Amino acid sequence: MSRFFSTRLSLLDAYEPGEQPSGVEYIKLNTNESPYPPPDSIKAAAVNELEKLNLYPNPDGRALINRLAENYDVKPENIIVGNGSDELLAFSFHAFLEDGVVFPDITYGFYPVYAELYNVPYQQIPLLDDLTVNIKDYINTGKNVIIANPNAPTGIALTLDEIEEIVKGNPDFIVIIDEAYIDFGGKSAIGLINTYDNLLIIHTFSKSRSMAGARLGFAAGPAPIIKDLNKIKYSFNPYNVNRITQVIGEAAISEEEYFIGKRREIIKTREYTKMRLKNLGFIMTDSCANFLFGKHPEIGGHILYSKLKNMGILVRQWNKPRISDYVRITIGTKEQMDALIAATGEILSNG
Ligand SMILES: *Cc1c(COP(=O)(O)O)cnc(C)c1O
Repeated sequence: MSRFFSTRLSLLDAYEPGEQPSGVEYIKLNTNESPYPPPDSIKAAAVNELEKLNLYPNPDGRALINRLAENYDVKPENIIVGNGSDELLAFSFHAFLEDGVVFPDITYGFYPVYAELYNVPYQQIPLLDDLTVNIKDYINTGKNVIIANPNAPTGIALTLDEIEEIVKGNPDFIVIIDEAYIDFGGKSAIGLINTYDNLLIIHTFSKSRSMAGARLGFAAGPAPIIKDLNKIKYSFNPYNVNRITQVIGEAAISEEEYFIGKRREIIKTREYTKMRLKNLGFIMTDSCANFLFGKHPEIGGHILYSKLKNMGILVRQWNKPRISDYVRITIGTKEQMDALIAATGEILSNG
């Protein structure tokens, strides 16, 4: 740390992304990326756009926003695009949460980081023992609310009715639903933004659209909320989504069939892997995401993580209360999951 760093910010615990190793060839099941590359049309769109790199992109991402609005059956003024959904989460914490926010004790690790960064008071509400959200805890909170649905890293989803109850139950506060994993099994609440003026939905292209490397997310909400987010964006980085990402985002919307097929494949592989791991004695949550979350009664989470890493397979594990015995396993290809299952079986039988 330099002697110039703000005292307050020097106390910040930054977010720790999953390892992105270079050099060693791991089977990488630790950051919930898609194992499938995007289709060729997306590569062509990117290459085409290269000759315009001397020009700034459209600051609104107008064409992309229009495509998204059409695709999700909302109006363009209901959408803002961001440099990854993380950026839109950051804007939202900055814009709306100064009076405080509640979220589960076990959820996306970035929420407490953004809360600290933007001086937002926050309260973590414990998940129930089975790692589900007790929606009664989220009615009349007297605070703003952010919930990942499906939740991470548990993968457990709330129903659309439950989300609606939470939105209705906090009419004077904003309810932010982070739908990073919604395409793998949950039901999106985007349709509710026309009914409730306090609902904001955050989506990403990183998981279900194979574009983690492009950094693209969007938020959908009532027009006044989107206008507020634009004010933050235009006070920070007007050209937040680069030209190439904007055109490949558009191309991705035109390729919904491709991505729907890949999601189906991932869901099928998830259920297969879950069944095989249960047969090995694992206790698993009912994940509706592109990852599994489970623990084994005979081996600690960190030991399993380390042994898998030694065998060339990366999964994610947190030394945190309540979940340190669990590992989170991204769903890769069937071949990758068979390698994971074989390695895990070997680790268990060697004690
Ligand atoms: C991956 C993830 C994000 C961030 O996605 P990006 O668009 O890549 O920034 C946001 N929320 C949750 C819950 C995630 O798991």
